Amino acid sequence: MLDKYGRTIDYLRISLTDRCNLRCVYCMPEEGIHQIPHAEILTYDEILRISQCAAELGVRKIKLTGGEPLARKDCAWLAGQLKAIPGIEKVTLTTNGILLSEQLGALTEAGIDAINISLDTLDPELFRQITRRDSLDKVLEGLEAALACPGLSVKLNCVPAVKKKENFVAMAGLAKKYPLHVRFIEMMPIGYGKKFPFQDEESIKAILEEAYGPMTLIEERFGNGPCHYYKIEGFQGKIGFISAVTHKFCSQCNRVRLTAEGYLKGCLQFQEGTDLRALLRGGCTDGELTEAIRSVIWEKPVSHNFYEAQTEQDEVRAMSQIGG
Ligand code: SAM
Ligand code: SF4
Repeated sequence: MLDKYGRTIDYLRISLTDRCNLRCVYCMPEEGIHQIPHAEILTYDEILRISQCAAELGVRKIKLTGGEPLARKDCAWLAGQLKAIPGIEKVTLTTNGILLSEQLGALTEAGIDAINISLDTLDPELFRQITRRDSLDKVLEGLEAALACPGLSVKLNCVPAVKKKENFVAMAGLAKKYPLHVRFIEMMPIGYGKKFPFQDEESIKAILEEAYGPMTLIEERFGNGPCHYYKIEGFQGKIGFISAVTHKFCSQCNRVRLTAEGYLKGCLQFQEGTDLRALLRGGCTDGELTEAIRSVIWEKPVSHNFYEAQTEQDEVRAMSQIGG
């Protein structure tokens, strides 16, 4: 389906939970988190019904996110059910990796197509400072296990939360050591991310070129999104950048987002959207549900305006509540 600006919308990101086993400083507060009561979170049946209607409108790819999606029971089961919906071609997952090694078998059996692991540093002390937890070993175990899975597409997402040259060099070095694409995501001024100093793509690229030599932009795209990639001589994987701030890609945006409590959003930055849970629990027909999804897609905002004047329409949810 097209939105009113002519963009094809074929990608749905579903947040399964607002809960997480980490407390990344740019995403969640340390304490005092208001957790959505279980009864207010969409059930798997409700998620499947929404996904079926979305597939009828042309959604082809689904990403499971959170909070931490693997912290919700039977995430792999849901992935399998989503894959079985006619029209859905790819179901992928973004995870902090802590529970990955134990759930990887179930996820691959369910037919998961790709896994993105979020990891910002290989330094245990920095990891503890960024995530407020000591779980680096578990994440690395998950990463190794995923890389050992034949045919599974694995990527690594790194938010430059700490401005340390050697950290960027070490993270990019994983793409040298493994056939793994390492992507740097510009910090977005959403929720707790607003408080962080901004590190742009060009400055990280300059640091990496100094350490590893020239980086050559490639045309090839991997996955659902707006990441652009560079190759470096001698590297098995590519280095990617998702630069929502300095390389605004809204004209190619292909996605809508469903929060854990069932609110369908057209754009990360704005609150605008529709409460699908209220419709579902009010006894709507599939036709009414499809119409509500169609309307959010059609009305999808033309673009974000991060770092411009804040408005009352701006999102007030934390990233952990939206799913990134
Ligand atoms: N817990 C899972 C994880 O960390 O992958 C899924 C949810 S998390 C919100 C999804 C992605 O959003 C992660 O890669 C995280 O680093 C990223 N993220 C969180 N806050 C952000 C911000 N302010 N700007 C850019 N990316 C952010
Ligand atoms: Fe949890 Fe992911 Fe947010 Fe970190 S970025 S606190 S792992 S939801």
